[in-house]
Amino acid sequence: MSWLTDIMAKYLPKRGTDLLVPVTGHPQDLEPLAVYDIDPEGWLRGPGVVHVPSARNSALTTPRREPWGIVWHYTATDLGTAKSLAKRIVKTPGPNDRAASWHVLLAADGTVYQSVSFKRGSWHCKEGRLGTHRINASTVGIEMEGHGRPMDFTPALIENATRLVVALVAEYDMRADRVDLQHGNLDPQRRDDAGVHFARYVLPGILEQAYHGRPQPTDAVVTAQLRGQTPPYPQGD
Ligand SMILES: [Zn+2]
Repeated sequence: MSWLTDIMAKYLPKRGTDLLVPVTGHPQDLEPLAVYDIDPEGWLRGPGVVHVPSARNSALTTPRREPWGIVWHYTATDLGTAKSLAKRIVKTPGPNDRAASWHVLLAADGTVYQSVSFKRGSWHCKEGRLGTHRINASTVGIEMEGHGRPMDFTPALIENATRLVVALVAEYDMRADRVDLQHGNLDPQRRDDAGVHFARYVLPGILEQAYHGRPQPTDAVVTAQLRGQTPPYPQGD
C-alpha cells in the first residue's frame, strides 16, 4: 500500500486528520474515509478507481491548464448502467451520437470510472462560463449514476464523491463557490441535474469535508485567474 503512504504524506499535514470522518448525513459507521490521490497527469488513484480513457476531450483554457471548479450531473439512467456508459464514450462520437463526455462517473456500487484527465476538458456542459472560460474548458464534470432520487445516492457513491472532491480541492486549490455548480443551473432550458436532493442534502456535507480548515484563495489570486482567454469551443453536452 505504498500509494496510501504517499498520499498520507502528501495531504495529511495540510488537511489535518479531522477531515477524514464520515460526511454529514452518512449512515452511522465511523470508519475513516480512505483518501484519493491525483497523479501529475491528472488521473485519480485510489480504491475503486477504474480508468477508461475517452477520446472525447479538449484542452483546458485556464492559465495553468488546471480545472477551476466542478459541475455536477446525474446520468438519468438506471443503477447498474455506469460501466456501459463509460465504455460508450471511449471513442470519438459517430454521426448519430451526441458529442458528450465527462471526467468521472460515480457508480452507486462504489466504482469510480475516470474517462478524462483533470488536466483536459470533457464535454459535459456546453452552456455557461467561469470568467471568460467556457465551462467545458475550465471545470471537472462529475456524473452520478441514477436519476437524482434520494435512493440513487448510496453511501458508497457519497463516500467516493467526498474523496474525489477532497482530492480535487487540495490538488487544484478550487474555490468553494466553484465546486457546487450544477448542470441544471448552467443550462436551465435543457437540464435539471444534479437535482434538488443532491443540492440540499448531499453536496453540503461533501463541501464541509473538503473545506474544513482550509483557507480560501485570496481575491488577488481569483482576479488573476479571471484574466484568461477562451478560444471557440463547440463541443456538447
Ligand atoms: Zn448533466
